[in-house]
Amino acid sequence: MRIVQRPAEMQWLAAEYRSQGHSIGLVPTMGALHAGHLSLLRACRAGNDVSVMSLFVNPTQFDRPEDLAKYPRDLEGDSRLGRDAGVDVIFAPTMEEVYPAGYATYVAVEGLTARWEGASRAGHFRGVATVCTKLFTICRPHRAFFGQKDYQQTLVVKRLAADLNLDLEIIVLPTVREPDGLALSSRNVLLGPEERRQATVLSRALRQAQAAVTAGERDAVRLRLAIEEAIRATPLAVLDYVGVCDPETLEPLERIAGRAVAVVAATFGRARLIDNVLLEP
Ligand code: AMP
Repeated sequence: MRIVQRPAEMQWLAAEYRSQGHSIGLVPTMGALHAGHLSLLRACRAGNDVSVMSLFVNPTQFDRPEDLAKYPRDLEGDSRLGRDAGVDVIFAPTMEEVYPAGYATYVAVEGLTARWEGASRAGHFRGVATVCTKLFTICRPHRAFFGQKDYQQTLVVKRLAADLNLDLEIIVLPTVREPDGLALSSRNVLLGPEERRQATVLSRALRQAQAAVTAGERDAVRLRLAIEEAIRATPLAVLDYVGVCDPETLEPLERIAGRAVAVVAATFGRARLIDNVLLEP
């Protein structure tokens, strides 16, 4: 396994792989790896000749400096996990290499980013879209792997890849969960024991929404209110938003006619958590 720090070296390496006819898969991460990341790495390895994992805590996607400051970092542990997962190249640039002095170019995906995470975290998707565009042009993957856990992010990345003719495939893999339903997240380490117990309300409420739809519920507003109520009834949860929306545009729905997605965000102590579920009538 090779660890590459300089963007120019990564770009050169990617060009080499391409000239040899190798397909390149990329798994972008901010490190603090868990089983969710490992499932992306497994899929990447299975479908590509060369697997690249990027490790970069991207400052431009953090709306609050304290969130960036407390984000868990463990380059050594992550490198070990990457090696064990069969990663060929870890691309771990420094902040100064990604955003050198004088850096002035940002990518804005409009429309899709107006609601939910985009509304709650000013500038978040501008940072995500910018860093993903840079990672794609530096690592030159044929395929890039993302988790459904960050559902809105998957739509934003698909949109930018299509709009900018990036000629790569975006592959989305299911959310990996703890046995009690909590979606794995690097931020889960910030939860105290009681917060950790109560955080299961998110996945439980989403599962109940899914069960209600299976049982025939088609009123999207009633579904949203039931999820909100469950979270509001949880003492350590501070609700941010609940949406039951169109799975492509993320516009809120009144009725469930075809596929839909329910998205939630809430804070428990120091950890802001998000989750989602696809609803199939
Ligand atoms: P992050 O390091 O949090 O930026 O996440 C890197 C990638 O891992 C993103 O595509 C996330 O959607 C994905 N990811 C994070 N948590 C999970 C999870 N529980 N299951 C599947 N993918 C995940």
